[in-house]
Amino acid sequence: MGKHDHSHQEHSGDSLMDAASASLIAAGEQWTNMRADVFEELARHEKPASAYDIADNLSAKRGKRVAPNSVYRILDLFVTNNLALRVESSNAYLANSHPGCTHDCIFLVCDDCGEATHVDSDDVSRTVRAIAEQRNFAARRPVIEIRGICASCT
Ligand SMILES: [Zn+2]
Ligand SMILES: [Zn+2]
Ligand SMILES: [Zn+2]
Repeated sequence: MGKHDHSHQEHSGDSLMDAASASLIAAGEQWTNMRADVFEELARHEKPASAYDIADNLSAKRGKRVAPNSVYRILDLFVTNNLALRVESSNAYLANSHPGCTHDCIFLVCDDCGEATHVDSDDVSRTVRAIAEQRNFAARRPVIEIRGICASCT
């Protein structure tokens, strides 16, 4: 874990659902049933989930077909509002365990089992952002992912 000069809170289970809905509502968006279902499904996954994975599970749960496109739009909204994190190298998403605070999260992605471990260290991203700034590049979202083999796969 990185150093935090604010009261950083990691959530799980019901408290994560509450923190996610509170964040989305605070951003002026609605917490619809569909959005709640997508978030719940995302939070159930330990490994990064694709829009297709979530659409398949939701279709089964709701007993009617949920289009991956509509799931994708919701995931996009979640990423914009810090409810979900996109793991670029896996083309998949994770529920953000800290929807109340913004970090440049670092992911350790296992090439064997696909698990993405989430680490918060703003030290690294501060350096990365400074490099972009020196070139007058407006950094929006540094993507820092480390591919390798996790402890349980070695
Ligand atoms: Zn924090
Ligand atoms: Zn994080
Ligand atoms: Zn692994």
